[in-house]
Amino acid sequence: MPAELVITKASTGTVFELGFTAGLHGPCFRCLDDAVLDLPIDAREYEATSPGEADELKTPYVVDDKLDLAAWSRDAVALALPDKILCRPSCAGLCSTCGKNLNEEPHTHDEEPAHSRWAALEALRDKL
Ligand SMILES: [Zn+2]
Ligand SMILES: [Zn+2]
Repeated sequence: MPAELVITKASTGTVFELGFTAGLHGPCFRCLDDAVLDLPIDAREYEATSPGEADELKTPYVVDDKLDLAAWSRDAVALALPDKILCRPSCAGLCSTCGKNLNEEPHTHDEEPAHSRWAALEALRDKL
């Protein structure tokens, strides 16, 4: 995939900026259909010229003056992953009663509890 890497030398260290679009593909969280999602990645790392003791001034992706792009981009994608991958934001999901896909077959079921409640009331009315 195409990616853009910008390396900026500052007086105190080096700034690495990585940008690309990750294509995600997997089952929709709600309806289990195929879901395809473009995830924009914008990552930034900093490596101080003399890091000293502070770990946060040193990027873990630079080892022996080499930038480990594969590890960095993998971690950046993992951090940017949404909680739920959906086939579309308004996905209706699966019917909780019969399990059919509500996107393809929108439907509702008669709610049994409501019926029995009315039946009970009617029986009571008959007694009065
Ligand atoms: Zn879905
Ligand atoms: Zn149903």
